[in-house]
Amino acid sequence: MPHLLNVWPRVSRQVAAADHVLLLLDYDGTLSPIAGRPDLAVLPARTGDALSAVHALDRFTLGIVSGRGLADVREMVGIPGLVYAGNHGLEIEGPDGTFTHTEARRLRPYLNLLLQALRDRISGMEGVYVEGKGLTFSVHFRLTPEKLRPEVVAGFDEILASVANDGKVRITAGKEILEVRPNVDWHKGRAISRIAKAFPPGTLPIYFGDDLTDEDGFEAVHDLNGISVFVGPARQPTKAQYRVDSPAEVAETLELLAKL
Ligand SMILES: [Mg+2]
Repeated sequence: MPHLLNVWPRVSRQVAAADHVLLLLDYDGTLSPIAGRPDLAVLPARTGDALSAVHALDRFTLGIVSGRGLADVREMVGIPGLVYAGNHGLEIEGPDGTFTHTEARRLRPYLNLLLQALRDRISGMEGVYVEGKGLTFSVHFRLTPEKLRPEVVAGFDEILASVANDGKVRITAGKEILEVRPNVDWHKGRAISRIAKAFPPGTLPIYFGDDLTDEDGFEAVHDLNGISVFVGPARQPTKAQYRVDSPAEVAETLELLAKL
């Protein structure tokens, strides 16, 4: 898979030729380096400046598609007027108003009960942070010493085993993170398709992401003849067309886009 900056002349021509560009990016590990705790994953100043520069161009619509809660990711990015999708797209703000997935909203009280049980079971363990995000929740254990991590996972499995067969929740694993989401037919890809529908034909969608849940986003932009960029090492398997090494290179790419 080519490195994006090695094929930049070709890709930049494709971007320049589009009537409009819908540029969507994941947050953690894509715009911001992954941190031990989610509140520490602040947006680098250079990246914020580059996002603002792209956002200022009429030809671009900029959006963030994150596993964080909507209000949280909006606050972390801090740029008004972007499209924001939180909880893997279960809640979306703009371009055509706000959207909350109906079935996810209905399952929220049920997820809250699970969240409480999980907190009681594992939130006292070293380095564990159980994060309620409204429609979903996450267990972060990047700060847990490696030898204790199996205990965290065992505690998680114990609580979740009781509901494993009722079909109401879906569990996904990411980078030292476990997530519990309502088991609804929705993901970042569906959210991206929904956002893209608000734009006229001739709009070029682009998506940058670094984790497993971003693969749905890559597929969605492929269906729309868009461009997908994986953020991370070349050895990692991904469906994306291109790759950059790091969030720092995402910032570099944003700076190049702002100059087009
Ligand atoms: Mg990410």
